Amino acid sequence: MNMSLLDNIVSHNEQFVENKQYEQFLTSKFPDKKMVILTCMDTRLTELLPRAMNLRNGDAKIIKNAGALVSHPFGSIMRSLIVAVYDLSAEEVFVVGHYDCGMTGLNSEKVLAKARERGVPDKLIRMLEHAGIELDKFLTGFERVHDSVLNSVEVIRNHPLLPANLPVHGLIISPETGRLDVITDGYEYIASREQGKTRR
Ligand SMILES: [Zn+2]
Repeated sequence: MNMSLLDNIVSHNEQFVENKQYEQFLTSKFPDKKMVILTCMDTRLTELLPRAMNLRNGDAKIIKNAGALVSHPFGSIMRSLIVAVYDLSAEEVFVVGHYDCGMTGLNSEKVLAKARERGVPDKLIRMLEHAGIELDKFLTGFERVHDSVLNSVEVIRNHPLLPANLPVHGLIISPETGRLDVITDGYEYIASREQGKTRR
């Protein structure tokens, strides 16, 4: 009999705990490198991103969603970032998008077509739209990851509940080689803003 995915995980887990394989991962909830990362849930990044950024267990807070997007200034991603900064001693923020992201070119029409195929009644979809739920906005990704990373960085840098001297960096990682491209450097941004202030 084939074991289900859940059964597989549970039986592996029993061995894992019994053999004390967790010992190499023991650490605290505070990030040793005092940083928080917002990145994508892409499967290729699960191990690649921490290795490519030289992160071990305990080094960083990592928040993931589809596309590394901050889509709402008062949504759960921003809340996680705020908690990381004030409660968990993160002193820098890294937004790390990636090339070949599934959120590139995602549009609500495609997603809703698949939902209909899987049995979600069209009537129900139209009802949600009539009720004022903007599915179009809700289920849309971005055209270019570069712009999307910059947008998310902007939202975080300008957030009213975060300190002005918090460095927020924007990067793009290659999901094959792990190469990082720095799109915007948070230290430079803070320095240029400071300069702008003294000039005025
Ligand atoms: Zn992605």
